[in-house]
Amino acid sequence: MNSTHDRYDIAIVGGGIPALFGAVIFSKLELKVLLVAKGFDRNGRAVSSGRSRSYAISPSNIGLFARCGLKGQFFEMSEDVFEMHLFEDEACLKLSSDLGPNDFLAKIVDHTSLHNLLFTATSSLQNLHSISGRVKGFDYGPDGKQCYLKILQDSEKEISTIKTNLLVVADGANSFCRQILGIPWGIKNYCQHAVLADFKSSLSPNIARQWFRRDEVLAFLPTAKNSLSMIWSQRDCDAQRLLQEGDSYLMKELSNFIGTTMLSRIEIDSKMISAPLAMTTVDKLVTKRVILLGDSAHTVHPLAGLGLNIGLFDILTLVDEFDKAINKNRKFDAGCKEVLSSYLRARLFKTRAIQTLIDTIKVGFSASGHSAKLLRTRGMNLLNRSDLLKRYIVRFAASTL
Ligand SMILES: Cc1cc2nc3c(=O)[nH]c(=O)nc-3n(C[C@H](O)[C@H](O)[C@H](O)COP(=O)(O)OP(=O)(O)OC[C@H]3O[C@@H](n4cnc5c(N)ncnc54)[C@H](O)[C@@H]3O)c2cc1C
Repeated sequence: MNSTHDRYDIAIVGGGIPALFGAVIFSKLELKVLLVAKGFDRNGRAVSSGRSRSYAISPSNIGLFARCGLKGQFFEMSEDVFEMHLFEDEACLKLSSDLGPNDFLAKIVDHTSLHNLLFTATSSLQNLHSISGRVKGFDYGPDGKQCYLKILQDSEKEISTIKTNLLVVADGANSFCRQILGIPWGIKNYCQHAVLADFKSSLSPNIARQWFRRDEVLAFLPTAKNSLSMIWSQRDCDAQRLLQEGDSYLMKELSNFIGTTMLSRIEIDSKMISAPLAMTTVDKLVTKRVILLGDSAHTVHPLAGLGLNIGLFDILTLVDEFDKAINKNRKFDAGCKEVLSSYLRARLFKTRAIQTLIDTIKVGFSASGHSAKLLRTRGMNLLNRSDLLKRYIVRFAASTL
């Protein structure tokens, strides 16, 4: 798509996983869709962000893969989590998929595989157009019935303008679109970084393990039969030291956390990388003819592995709202007030509640002092003895989005 002044039902800004899902699923509704993403080339190869990050995809989002016709391929490329073991000091809580409504607690997939799956899916869609470039400006048309988007293509020096009925903003936590739209946002900086690395492993497969210690959270996600992905949230200075000192220092620090027996069964298999951690909230998820979703609308601490999942559920909710409006058999306008209001009703309370819940867990597990610790360890051991409560937790986690 190189033409200027073109008209679309939906323009999506961003090239992350939620944006690509949006591009695929909205195009399948036979809407005219434009994807604007930095470095995105549908005729070339997928541009990987180079991040080695694994996601635990929640059962609530499998419907999105099914609707995109990608469920089979996703099941093949992902690893099932059948059990989750949570540790704090001597306390342990073991959750199992047997207690819940699904055959698995989550499915683990790595960023690049998922990105490539979606990228390939975009290539066959006739009514999906794309621009490799970035948004530079935004305005409404004279009658307010369209958004005008000014775009600087990666290969051009001139700015072109497109018209769209709905703008879907999915350009990440530092969203430029959010800024030019004048939507206020807030950030709670956890003063932590997540350190990520891949490991070879001879531990029992299909088990996700997570340790809480002071304000740190360490998780090992099973990425294949013999491999794990580590995500270790810790204070900025500790994370920086890990990266500086290297692998042997990491293994020494890990032994204090997980013990020498478990440590002897894993071996680091990648470079360490790190990412800063913060909770971002926005004053508005929706404004006239615009929807914010993914990290541009909300970020959370990764302790519950829900960040991407919330963004995917945004897409699933939006496509359900489109379906309802299309079925009413009127001339469909993707950016009309009714669609945006029902989307807002469905998502505003939920996303805020999930953000608050995750932040409360983060604060609760960070609280020091003997009584706080006693409460946590007693609580976890108590939960572990009750199948009824564990069943409730598994069901809640599978449906919380
Ligand atoms: C350490 C860590 C671990 C995590 N683990 C999990 C997990 O286990 N499970 C889970 O569900 N979530 C997890 N998350 C959260 C998850 O990574 C994010 O929620 C998700 O990647 C957000 O996707 P996004 O597309 O909204 O943003 P991003 O991935 O940041 O993508 C933004 C995109 O927009 C493009 N862009 C930016 N500006 C412009 C512009 N002006 N014009 C055009 N394009 C633009 C960028 O190039 C990029 O492609 C984790 C996060 C972290 C930090």
